[in-house]
Amino acid sequence: MMGLTNEHLAKWLEKTNAKIQENKTFLTNLDQAIGDGDHGINMSRGFDEAVKKISSTEYKTSSDLLKDWAMTLLSKVGGASGPLYGTALLKFSMSMKDKEEVDYSSLTAGIEEGLNGLIQRGQAQEGHKTMVDVWSPVVTFLKEQPAFNPEGFKEIAKEAMEKTKDMKAIKGRAAYLKERSIGHLDPGSVSSYYLFSSLAEVIEEEGVGL
Ligand code: ADP
Ligand code: MG
Repeated sequence: MMGLTNEHLAKWLEKTNAKIQENKTFLTNLDQAIGDGDHGINMSRGFDEAVKKISSTEYKTSSDLLKDWAMTLLSKVGGASGPLYGTALLKFSMSMKDKEEVDYSSLTAGIEEGLNGLIQRGQAQEGHKTMVDVWSPVVTFLKEQPAFNPEGFKEIAKEAMEKTKDMKAIKGRAAYLKERSIGHLDPGSVSSYYLFSSLAEVIEEEGVGL
């Protein structure tokens, strides 16, 4: 079986949700240090709702599944992260509209479209200490590789997430702290790391040919 099926996409969402629930307090603590302390709560609520929706619905296409995931985050999550993740997943969904299967090139294109949506919506660039700092290197890595490399992919996402610690925030709530934002991980980059490490784990565990 080539490519990610809807079952794989649902597993990706469930795995990401499991990591978010496990680390809800950690995400909230990170956001308490440089934001308003709701990132864990926002992500926990949104992803729980998305799992409920997707696990109780039959989807004909991957585009439809991704669209519901996106719409749930857009409608259930307050704060910056809901609209940002929602927009990214919606762009991913739209890019899958005319595709038969989520193979390596459509996965790469979908995540790249997601990143473009994120940038369009949030106006952040790389180095501004936002989730863009994880999404952008992940896209670059996908485009460089000939096929999906789970270990390398996870490593890239992890390193990118860790690098946000030394950055000064230019966008998002943390930007109000200016220099004082340095020395703390960006909460949205940590949740994005959960999203991407979950994707790699599903691909590995399910033996998805990509
Ligand atoms: P809020 O900032 O509204 O409280 P959250 O706490 O849920 O929302 O999410 C904060 C995260 O959102 C940040 O850690 C950052 O990664 C991301 N973020 C905030 N603003 C932007 C932006 N303009 N562009 C990209 N990501 C952003
Ligand atoms: Mg917050």
